[in-house]
Amino acid sequence: MKPTFTLGRVAGISIGVHWSVLVMMLLVTEIVAVAILPVQAPSAGTAVDWVAGLLAAVTFLASLLAHELAHAVVARRYGMPADRITLWLLGGVTELGTNPPTPRAAFLVAGAGPATSLVLGVVFGGLAAGAALLSLPTVLREVLTWLGFVNLVLGVFNLLPGAPLDGGRLLQAGLWKRSGDRARAAVSAARAGRFLGMTLIALGVFQLVGGQLVSGLWLALIGWFLVVSALSEESATGLRERLTGVRLRDVMSPEPVTAPSWWTVDTFLERVAERDHHRTFPVVDMEGRPVRLLSLTDLVRVPEQTRGDTRLEDLGRPLRPDGTAGPEDLLTELPAGSWQLSGRGMLLVVEGGHVIGIVNTHDVNRAVELANLGHLPRTGDGAAGEPGRAGHPGQPGQGTASPYVPEQRPGG
Ligand SMILES: [Zn+2]
Repeated sequence: MKPTFTLGRVAGISIGVHWSVLVMMLLVTEIVAVAILPVQAPSAGTAVDWVAGLLAAVTFLASLLAHELAHAVVARRYGMPADRITLWLLGGVTELGTNPPTPRAAFLVAGAGPATSLVLGVVFGGLAAGAALLSLPTVLREVLTWLGFVNLVLGVFNLLPGAPLDGGRLLQAGLWKRSGDRARAAVSAARAGRFLGMTLIALGVFQLVGGQLVSGLWLALIGWFLVVSALSEESATGLRERLTGVRLRDVMSPEPVTAPSWWTVDTFLERVAERDHHRTFPVVDMEGRPVRLLSLTDLVRVPEQTRGDTRLEDLGRPLRPDGTAGPEDLLTELPAGSWQLSGRGMLLVVEGGHVIGIVNTHDVNRAVELANLGHLPRTGDGAAGEPGRAGHPGQPGQGTASPYVPEQRPGG
């Protein structure tokens, strides 16, 4: 979920908003102004109803934010980055950055959100009761009552036991604690989430048939979101588990052909490009250090008559800091961007300042396919003395590392 714009930062956590949040605000405003207030506080008048509806929507959004902030603050206490929250149509998403270090941390991070919503529910309910006691305007009392009610619903709904809901994370923490296997616990919680999502879709369809259009669609939408998120979590966790312990040394194509930066385009085309089957090459300087990435497409832009005196050092793209990694780095521990290696991207495996291998999409896909066959890629002849590594997937301490596991929570 990419935020459309950023509202600002709270305690170092960036608060973003996706445009779809406007749809949610509109719905909430409309429900309060049209469906609730004219019935519960008929004397207020239409203009007051709409203003109150809008204020209710803004306060509701703030309640959602409080829920997500609770997750983020607890996550940070346990050393997770948790530096971005995004509010959107179905609630909020807190990106934890890494997996919780222990079952206890996972439990507390997940529990903090619903606990906050439940407390807010009680607080708004208390304020509503206070407003009634002090004979404040009925509109105010009704809005506070509604806010109390939705926060309680939010707290309870999120406790339903299926990932990516908070209740699913609690379940996952419990299973993890019991079995000691985080990945398997994650898969079980995701399966529960899939089942929960399908149940919600069925309930939504049932309501639709019964003529309750908006709430039926809403339930089905949340259910669909749960099913999709749970499915992707399930497959990502399974894949990561199968690739546990695989090092870049095991998957890389070793001794890649490099392009000296002082060569001209013509020299490179004749000596390398004609013979090598790759399309992207690391460009190295005089000391053999990688400095740029060059693809054949970059060369097409050089006019034929200048190919004899255009040097490679001026072509291609400069190497990004996340474009290199060490041979002992774990494949599953790479930052999300380089792990996915989209398009013609290529990761350089560097040791002692020199390129000793490259990892591209082909290499990663090969590792994934081998893992799906129950085997793991291994280093070639050079390191055949370490075969044991491939036989121990799921060693404790390795399974906790993973790229980008978002904590997601639909609601509203
Ligand atoms: Zn939550």
